[in-house]
Amino acid sequence: MNIQFIDLASQYESIKDNVLRDIQIVLSHGKYIMGPEVLDLEEKLKAYVSCEHALGVSSGTDALVVPLLAAGVGPGDCVFLPAFTYTATAEAVLLVGASPVFVDVDERTFNMDLTSLEKQYKKVVSKGELKPRVVLTVDLFGQLANYNAISPWCKERDLMVLADSAQAFGGSLNGRFAGAFGDVTATSFYPSKPLGCYGDGGAVFTNDGELAEKMSSVRTHGKGSHKYDVVRVGMNARLDTLQAAVLINKLSVFDKEMEERQRVAAVYEEGLATSVQVPHLIDGAVSAWAQYTVRVRDREALVEHLQEKKIPSMVFYPRPMHFQPPYAPYGEGPGSMPVSEMLCGEVLSLPMNPYLSSNDQQCVVNAINEFYG
Ligand SMILES: *Cc1c(COP(=O)(O)O)cnc(C)c1O
Repeated sequence: MNIQFIDLASQYESIKDNVLRDIQIVLSHGKYIMGPEVLDLEEKLKAYVSCEHALGVSSGTDALVVPLLAAGVGPGDCVFLPAFTYTATAEAVLLVGASPVFVDVDERTFNMDLTSLEKQYKKVVSKGELKPRVVLTVDLFGQLANYNAISPWCKERDLMVLADSAQAFGGSLNGRFAGAFGDVTATSFYPSKPLGCYGDGGAVFTNDGELAEKMSSVRTHGKGSHKYDVVRVGMNARLDTLQAAVLINKLSVFDKEMEERQRVAAVYEEGLATSVQVPHLIDGAVSAWAQYTVRVRDREALVEHLQEKKIPSMVFYPRPMHFQPPYAPYGEGPGSMPVSEMLCGEVLSLPMNPYLSSNDQQCVVNAINEFYG
């Protein structure tokens, strides 16, 4: 038995010939930067998501920085984001010089809680030191945040919604895919994400033509209409042509993989419902299942029990953002984000990938149920 947490080797076996062929094609034409594969991928992503503009970028982190820079978010501006997320979400805010304000999450969905957002927003407004500009939602573990509630709330207050869908590409809400929510969406093609490449990569999605043009400029050193016109301070945030060639092939098996992820999730839900707290999806949500994350009692002992059986598991995430030294000064200390703090002590992510066999998965289910007697 050799259970993989994320199984990129099996995936490679299934697409190998085409990937190698397409890498060869890139090496032959030599357009390593912004080659035809990048434009082809952008068209395919646009069609998949059903949005007006898709731009390939260099990573999920840059996919967050690029729209913030393009929208002119910076010093004096405040960006609301969940305290329970991956570091990159908070990092992007600090990198553009804006101030993060943490928001607690819902204990059942792990996503931003509107009641906490409202409370934090009122605090910022009454202090009057920072200008509320952006709500940076995170679609954690593959489930979209509750945009049905958050988007109209933001619109009323003229706040931009930036969706961190790094973990949710392929997930949907009421039939609309991640990428079609918020004013702009960032995603990541880091290898272990639902749609991953063979290195770093990411993309931004929007229906706002003006913002798309600014993001395209930011992506290439603030270029204007001519390559050597510089109209703003930008960065080098392009997606490599080689990675685009890889992603086009991964996209061709993506729907099938998403179905398999749903199969794996359904088996966990049925098999584990009595021993741990399985993930809760809001009405109309289909998760991309970047992670299958349960809440457990006695986590350390369970992890040890699983390790003895060679079953991998991971803790995403062991500390909330406001406990991490670089971000702590922007938070309000222990007890200020009670749900995020509690979840950090209870969550455990189980092996989740489209290539997980029924037999292997049954071993995971049995081992957990055995632990809880
Ligand atoms: C992975 C991830 C990112 C960053 O993506 P990279 O491609 O690794 O830069 C940002 N936000 C979240 C929630 C992520 O999971």
